[in-house]
Amino acid sequence: MKYIEEFQDPALARRLLDDIRATVTRPWALMEVCGGQTHTIIRHGIDQLLPDEVELIHGPGCPVCVTPLEVIDKALEIASRPGVIFCSFGDMLRVPGTGRDLFQVRGEGGDVRVVYSPLDALKTARQNPDREVVFFGIGFETTAPPNAMAVYQARKLGITNFSLLVSHVRVPPAIEAIMRSPSCRVQGFLAAGHVCSVMGTAEYPELADRHRVPIVVTGFEPLDILEGVRRAVRQLERGEHTVENAYPRAVRPEGNPAALAMLADVFEVTDRAWRGIGTIPDSGWRLSERFREYDAEHRFRVTGITTREPAACRSGEVLQGLIKPHECEAFGTLCTPRSPLGATMVSSEGACAAYYLYRRLDLGPGPARPATTPDRPTVPTAPLEASPVA
Ligand code: SF4
Repeated sequence: MKYIEEFQDPALARRLLDDIRATVTRPWALMEVCGGQTHTIIRHGIDQLLPDEVELIHGPGCPVCVTPLEVIDKALEIASRPGVIFCSFGDMLRVPGTGRDLFQVRGEGGDVRVVYSPLDALKTARQNPDREVVFFGIGFETTAPPNAMAVYQARKLGITNFSLLVSHVRVPPAIEAIMRSPSCRVQGFLAAGHVCSVMGTAEYPELADRHRVPIVVTGFEPLDILEGVRRAVRQLERGEHTVENAYPRAVRPEGNPAALAMLADVFEVTDRAWRGIGTIPDSGWRLSERFREYDAEHRFRVTGITTREPAACRSGEVLQGLIKPHECEAFGTLCTPRSPLGATMVSSEGACAAYYLYRRLDLGPGPARPATTPDRPTVPTAPLEASPVA
């Protein structure tokens, strides 16, 4: 519990907030890239504690949310086939595809299993040599190395009834796409610390320089977020745009060399579609030619997919930071975690889920309301964990 207690210390939070207030002189809009950071921000009311001049915009960093509908539909089709055991992390099971989800496939007789690691899926393949075992390999740079390792191990062990349905995405090209958008309001980024713990920081200086935007590598506890904001605001006020590492306890500039070597061996960079956003060049990974036999799309050759998103869902705008979740008319009415219209309401890192869990009683459903209200909470005297906002 060491880091949980230290990085939620309310006295330190007050000092960081005071420092931000003393520094800021103009309005600034910062984007937190990762959905895990969004949940920390909303859960602890950090956006409401910050001075009015600092707006936090929620970014597209939720892997479940950005997995394209076409890939979800392919997963549904493969999981429905006789002889297939389809393995996935639990939060993908309720993500709506076109008309149904993996839970429904399981209800219809499909063998859909929740696993906690791709190596669990590999074990399942060893135990069921007469079945095809498919693992749904989604995620950012954080989950790609273990998925690459599972494929590497499958080859090493001679396991041929195992494959990956791959939908891996990369953060730096997404930042590039966000900055190039004509509707972009982002002036600084809180980069996702866990991504950088794998990849290091080498990809960011050029982005920061080209778009003249500060990028602060940030962790996931309340004080991590406040420190990231403090550093980004300080840079903006000074007219600077560099990369800073505010998460040194987990991130080294060179990243994790062993994980990087595994990625380079098993995957290759490719264009990738992001749900609700569209295709971003070089923003994903797929299995390299040497490992193509372990690619479920190649093995099962799913064709004829016709996707259809619910018209009411505005998750693409949420993921690009163009609207806040409660500004979607379906929020809390047509769309809830029990009957989600979009992945952003299902995923444990989804922005809509965060607003529903921690803010819906304040915001309620209906038309757009300001993201901040005049009744801003005061800095809690109890630990932030116990904040009434949470
Ligand atoms: S509240 Fe529901 S319908 Fe609206 S954007 Fe979020 S997931 Fe989509």
